[in-house]
Amino acid sequence: MSAEQPMTADLFEVDKRLSLKPVVDFNSYLRNAFGDGACSCYRCVEGAGDESNYSHRHTFELEGRTLNRRFANTAGSDVLQYLKKAWLSYTKTDMQLLGELDLDTVKGFTDPALHLRLLALLPASGLAREVDGRWQLQAQAD
Ligand SMILES: [Zn+2]
Repeated sequence: MSAEQPMTADLFEVDKRLSLKPVVDFNSYLRNAFGDGACSCYRCVEGAGDESNYSHRHTFELEGRTLNRRFANTAGSDVLQYLKKAWLSYTKTDMQLLGELDLDTVKGFTDPALHLRLLALLPASGLAREVDGRWQLQAQAD
């Protein structure tokens, strides 16, 4: 028995929650929520990419690249499904579905490489919006 074993076990304890399936699923969902290049939907093509009158963004400059949000699976309700499952398995508590979103907790189980995507997707999906530095959850239709 090595004296170092308990400490090693503790370190794994911290990491273990990040390998829970719903947490892994949430991170891969974020990774796949964007496609390469500018949005090519009818509205964007017609408007030559002018998003000044859009309520939700279609095209993003992230990580030094131009990306578009994949509409098919990034409605606010889609994001919420993944987010609340990851939240539950990571924190062992149910996520509050209205009011303020504790972004620090969400970032705790989001790969740091994906934080920019998280911050882009929350408002673009309509799930949450930032008001005076706080993130407020928006009621979802379904
Ligand atoms: Zn578009």
